[in-house]
Amino acid sequence: VEGPRKYLIGGNWKCNGDWDASIDRVTMFNGCGDIPANVEVVLCVSDIYIPMLLQSIRTDIAVGGQNCGVNKSCGACTGETGSHQLKAIGCTWVIVGHSERREGFGMAGETVGLCAEKCKVALDNGLSVMFAIGEKKEERENGTTMDVCASQLAPLAKILDAKDWEKVAIAYEPVWAIGTGLTATPEMAQETHKNIRDWVSTNVSPEIAEAVRIQYGGSMKGANAKDLLAQPDIDGGLIGGASLKDDFFNVINGVP
Ligand code: PGA
Repeated sequence: VEGPRKYLIGGNWKCNGDWDASIDRVTMFNGCGDIPANVEVVLCVSDIYIPMLLQSIRTDIAVGGQNCGVNKSCGACTGETGSHQLKAIGCTWVIVGHSERREGFGMAGETVGLCAEKCKVALDNGLSVMFAIGEKKEERENGTTMDVCASQLAPLAKILDAKDWEKVAIAYEPVWAIGTGLTATPEMAQETHKNIRDWVSTNVSPEIAEAVRIQYGGSMKGANAKDLLAQPDIDGGLIGGASLKDDFFNVINGVP
């Protein structure tokens, strides 16, 4: 793959807001001015709002899901949305392995193996995937950040073919920074992004490591995006809270 990696800015609305709030955000983003040519933007919203966004959001913002089922084409999977269904309705992306899903919000969480399998199935069904990884506070403190990231990436590296990686972005999201207002400093984030890229180089291939986009996530907003995105191994962001507001466009416009 030649040339610089195109920046990838993902918005993750999570379960915030209702129908009217979602329409208001779409209207707001549609009026937010041009998106720089070196940025790809995708908004991941609750499944129930996906058709509305697909019909009404500006065409330079792609629409994706926040999760999908693990089965290739499952009929008997009550309560799931299959990646085949996301693809069929017009989504191009899905987030897999967000820490909130890995943790399970009080229910059984998703295992590293399940996340890898979901990613593979979503790719096979024609979607691109933002594959989220990252360490918890105590893991950073006891120096195991990269062990945790490697343990989340290893099953993925095992299951994906070289070609699959063209449609994968790794979203590095330190769990302690998500929704807390605590951002990794640009230097801390860069160090981990570089370690992740080196890990991909060793365990997948140097070419794929060079091409794969690694997004930062965790309290990223207009005020800190510029410094984060200026780092050589930070190729974008996955934005929660700030993607609910027009500050999302300050992040988008924060690319070098
Ligand atoms: P945050 O969330 O930007 O609100 O910290 C990021 C995420 O969870 O993807």
